[in-house]
Amino acid sequence: MEIQRIGIIGAGQMGNGIAHVCALAGYDVMMHDVKRDKVDAAFEIISMNLSRQAARGKISDAEKDSAMKRITAASSLDDFSKVDFAIEAATEDEKIKRQIFIDLCPKLSKNAMIASNTSSISITRLASVTDRPERFIGLHFMNPVPLMQLVELIRGIATEEETFHTVQALVKRLGKISANSEDFPAFIVNRILLPMINEAVYTLYEGVGTVDAIDTAMRLGANHPMGPLQLADFIGLDTCLSVMQVLYEGLADSKYRPCPLMVKYVEAGWLGQKTKRGFYDYRGEKPVPTR
Ligand code: NAD
Repeated sequence: MEIQRIGIIGAGQMGNGIAHVCALAGYDVMMHDVKRDKVDAAFEIISMNLSRQAARGKISDAEKDSAMKRITAASSLDDFSKVDFAIEAATEDEKIKRQIFIDLCPKLSKNAMIASNTSSISITRLASVTDRPERFIGLHFMNPVPLMQLVELIRGIATEEETFHTVQALVKRLGKISANSEDFPAFIVNRILLPMINEAVYTLYEGVGTVDAIDTAMRLGANHPMGPLQLADFIGLDTCLSVMQVLYEGLADSKYRPCPLMVKYVEAGWLGQKTKRGFYDYRGEKPVPTR
């Protein structure tokens, strides 16, 4: 099956990145979000990021302009009748995602395929609420999407080979590399990465080190490009907590229990960079550790 028109649900940090790379690769892209201002903000962010790529000589000004022209806003899911492929990149909450798929399916054309960008939730379970589990797949982009090379591909129990191969070809056209993961909680990257981040939060919670000490230790001691707490802020603490909950419940092992300090930050609405406060405070000129 040929994909030409892509609809993206959720225009947050992942949704805007996915729209960016799809438009740059020549696909027509439609963005939808429950919050209209998120779509407006996404247009601005995409334009800024494309300009940065053009300034660095990675793309031409003409490529930037045509990519921007390929992106439109969809005020409701009704517009999704025109898409060949819907990519869901809404908040990491199973209830929200299930409802989106229930609302979306009657609007889609018969052959349209669906992907979820979920970081952790079972693809088989999400597919089961749709009318097309054979044309449903996990397509897990990394943040920031325009810069990160990897995309995880996750087949649900019913995903057909044609769906898999079509989406694999799309990943290639985006200039990215795919790694296949079986459909188990948090797949490969987050199964390994999130317990490390959670452990960093425990290290902070137990007073082993300050935010600065923990991040410096891992940056310089393990040669990680970002410290784990800085990375947690970058991912979003709500997303980190949801992934840990999925691991904890899905694998029924106490080693995945989310750190109470992570829970407290999320309860405070300190979700990291996207809300300007998390393990660091981003409201000033330079990020300042919050403990
Ligand atoms: P985000 O909070 O930046 O954006 C989520 C967006 O979804 C928000 O704009 C919100 O308004 C919107 N939304 C919520 N309910 C909706 C609905 N019913 N219909 C339409 N839009 C709705 O979060 P994000 O970081 O972009 O994460 C989105 C998805 O991508 C999650 O599943 C997350 O696990 C996954 N993901 C995140 C990262 C990361 O590093 N942040 C990496 C890979 C995958």
